[in-house]
Amino acid sequence: MPPLIETRNLRHVYNAGTTSAVVAVDGISLTINQGEFVAIVGGNGSGKSTLAKHFNALLLPTGGEVYVDGRDTRTRASVWDIRQRVGMVFQNPDNQLVATVVEEDVAFGPENLGVPPAEIAARVEEALRTVNMLEYRRHAPHLLSGGQKQRVAIAGILAMRPQCLVLDEATTMLDPQGQREVIETIRRLNASGVTVIHITHAMDEAALAHRVIALQDGRIGLDGPPADVFARAEDLERMGLALPLIPALARRLREDGIPLPPGILSVDQLVDAVSALRPGQTARTNPNGVH
Ligand code: ADP
Ligand code: MG
Repeated sequence: MPPLIETRNLRHVYNAGTTSAVVAVDGISLTINQGEFVAIVGGNGSGKSTLAKHFNALLLPTGGEVYVDGRDTRTRASVWDIRQRVGMVFQNPDNQLVATVVEEDVAFGPENLGVPPAEIAARVEEALRTVNMLEYRRHAPHLLSGGQKQRVAIAGILAMRPQCLVLDEATTMLDPQGQREVIETIRRLNASGVTVIHITHAMDEAALAHRVIALQDGRIGLDGPPADVFARAEDLERMGLALPLIPALARRLREDGIPLPPGILSVDQLVDAVSALRPGQTARTNPNGVH
């Protein structure tokens, strides 16, 4: 089976050959397999959105290649296949909802794919149930909260039965409650087998993924499990990125001489690690004493 997404030495130059040329993606080779939950982080302008748009042929390479489920994104005849497999959710929920009723909005994608009407109804119901929005099926999208709108946008993609969901800062404009709703939804989807690629500014969200890719200047700076990537605090700092809260807290405690094991990402892991310390190890061992 080919990887779900593969980029080979991908380059993307905007306005190539002009004085305003910008190298947005500068030689990225990566493989994403079916079922992965990947977070992509990086400062503003590091190339995250440009890279993501190559995952479903919204952009085509200006150098190198991208394959989705073995299909070259430059092959015109494959574009609809690719878009059906890999759906994107964007930052602003208001720009993504087109209909005046929630269920019509969710039906839009499968209608465009030519799915028979009877099946569309079933898919819409299933998709809205998956994102916990079934009871809002006859509501007007513009009256929903941000988190609810993004969940409807996700349902619209799920109704196309994609293998992969790409979220480009889909939580950035939401309030904390909306962020939690969307994160909970994508974790559940991933647990049910959908590949999730979550682009985010929020390092705490990235810590929930199984793999973190950090971009800098259109290149991959770090790529690995969160425990490894967030062990590289200095490298991240150089890329202008902070640690998530819990790894940052664990790092501070280690600097204060408390012998915590590496790889602490969650509150539970931190509590377990602290509880496992021997008596005396939690006391400050800093010989200079006073803080
Ligand atoms: P990110 O999503 O990480 O903020 P982008 O992929 O949006 O990064 O942008 C990468 C670089 O490409 C930036 O320098 C940005 O200004 C530039 N860029 C993005 N979109 C365009 C565009 N449509 N035309 C010209 N330059 C662009
Ligand atoms: Mg972006």
